[in-house]
Amino acid sequence: MENVVKNYNLIKQEIQKNTNVKLVAVTKTFPIKHILPIINIDHIHFGENKVQEAQEKWTSIKNDFPNIKLHLIGKLQTNKVKFAIPLFDYIHSLDSEKLASKIADEQIKKGFKPKIFIQINIGEEPQKGGIGVNQLEEFYKKCLDIYNLNIIGLMCIPPFDKDSTPFFEKMQNLSKNLNLNEISMGMSDDYLEAIKFSSTFIRIGSKIFGKRN
Ligand SMILES: *Cc1c(COP(=O)(O)O)cnc(C)c1O
Repeated sequence: MENVVKNYNLIKQEIQKNTNVKLVAVTKTFPIKHILPIINIDHIHFGENKVQEAQEKWTSIKNDFPNIKLHLIGKLQTNKVKFAIPLFDYIHSLDSEKLASKIADEQIKKGFKPKIFIQINIGEEPQKGGIGVNQLEEFYKKCLDIYNLNIIGLMCIPPFDKDSTPFFEKMQNLSKNLNLNEISMGMSDDYLEAIKFSSTFIRIGSKIFGKRN
């Protein structure tokens, strides 16, 4: 079995001088027994990409460890929003007005406002979700004025076959223009680069937990 604690500590050491960077440990596909070693050393931020898997895996653990913050990093279907709130403290994948509207309704019903990132289709890839760079300003305004969402920042997944650097740089500029402080970007292969461009939430899976099936 992968030495999860050792992998985790190496990353924590690498990023320790960047005190505003939070590490989201991405646990999708891994069973809780594989994750427990870092829950037991008080790691806080965990990421999942599917609502149902997260419900099954995290509902009782979150009760036992109330400091844990759960992050939804994958696509959120509108019919799953009612299960996602309040299970997830952070939603990284707001990618449409329809979803914004649904979250708006649900956060009133539940009396819980998740922290939200607007996902940007930074590589303008047709198969990928996210708001286009040209639509961002208008979309952001609607999220605040019409839907009363707690937007804390922007999120991206750069094209997987290209150097991430120019995309990270674009994200940094977009964030500055909107005066948003948080940026969710950087994965196992490019988190150090992401931090150079002001990422504040890096999302790391395989480098901690090993290869996924
Ligand atoms: C799976 C996933 C990650 C983590 O990927 P690794 O390469 O294993 O670190 C980060 N972000 C998102 C959106 C993911 O789906």
